[in-house]
Amino acid sequence: MDLVVCGIAGRMGGAVARVIQQTRGVKLVGAVDRPRSPRVGKDVGEVVGFGTLGVPVSDNIGALLKGNVAIIDFTRSAVSLGYLREAAKREVSIVIGTTGFTAREWHEIKRLSRRTRVLVAPNMSVGVNLLLGLLGGVARSLGEDYDVEIIEMHHRFKKDAPSGTALALGRAIAGEWKRDLNKVAVFGRKGPVGERGKKEIGLLAVRAGDTVGEHTVIFGGLGERIEFVHRAHSRETFARGAVRAAQWLVKQKKGLYNMQDVLRLRPSS
Ligand code: NAD
Repeated sequence: MDLVVCGIAGRMGGAVARVIQQTRGVKLVGAVDRPRSPRVGKDVGEVVGFGTLGVPVSDNIGALLKGNVAIIDFTRSAVSLGYLREAAKREVSIVIGTTGFTAREWHEIKRLSRRTRVLVAPNMSVGVNLLLGLLGGVARSLGEDYDVEIIEMHHRFKKDAPSGTALALGRAIAGEWKRDLNKVAVFGRKGPVGERGKKEIGLLAVRAGDTVGEHTVIFGGLGERIEFVHRAHSRETFARGAVRAAQWLVKQKKGLYNMQDVLRLRPSS
């Protein structure tokens, strides 16, 4: 399968390019980054640090979407939407790992996914998706008397907060308890905030050094506390997930999917 990687000069773009090189049956045929970037025109191998691949970095995705290609994108929300529009025009499959989409952007993603195969996942790791699949059942068994707090930690360069994964974890629990996360989320606390509200779901974003990504979900009861912790050791885990997602996505019908679908953690509709 031929792949085009968007955001090739970024932390995730580089990891995806390295994983593609190590994976049988997939080939990097194109790479894109920001217009006017000094990397445009250079060889991808040089940009991501492994020799020469004979694939130049481009700033024009349209020219690369020929034949049977699929896109893997880790950039920024507005940029990803631009790539998605190009993919939809040509019915090219696209895996989007970018996080931080607004409600309006999600609306646009849903609309465009009627025209091609789209997979969006704020976290491509198997472990996080397994946790996402488990949390509804945990919340159901424990019942609503447990307080939920979610703490996430990422590297100092991360641009959005809280992480898309923390929000997805919160939604998995809120959904089970028929709560709207937008209404019950509390993003950190300060000052005389009073007692914790019964329906609150707390989210706290920590930014420190080069932390790849950690999420802790706490269910606090009276007399006990249960914690689920996921730690990503390297970006490769996300990159491997993205390549696996692309291999799966090209075989699907047009529509919007996530990693739960790839890992068969969600019953197909
Ligand atoms: P980064 O800043 O290292 O890389 C972003 C890349 O996008 C850069 O190469 C930048 O040049 C490029 N870019 C910016 N503007 C552009 C434009 N206008 N056109 C083309 N390219 C442009 O960031 P990162 O750490 O690689 O993360 C990228 C995204 O992926 C973030 O949203 C992050 O939260 C998300 N992420 C998701 C997962 C997951 O598993 N889904 C894992 C890690 C990171």
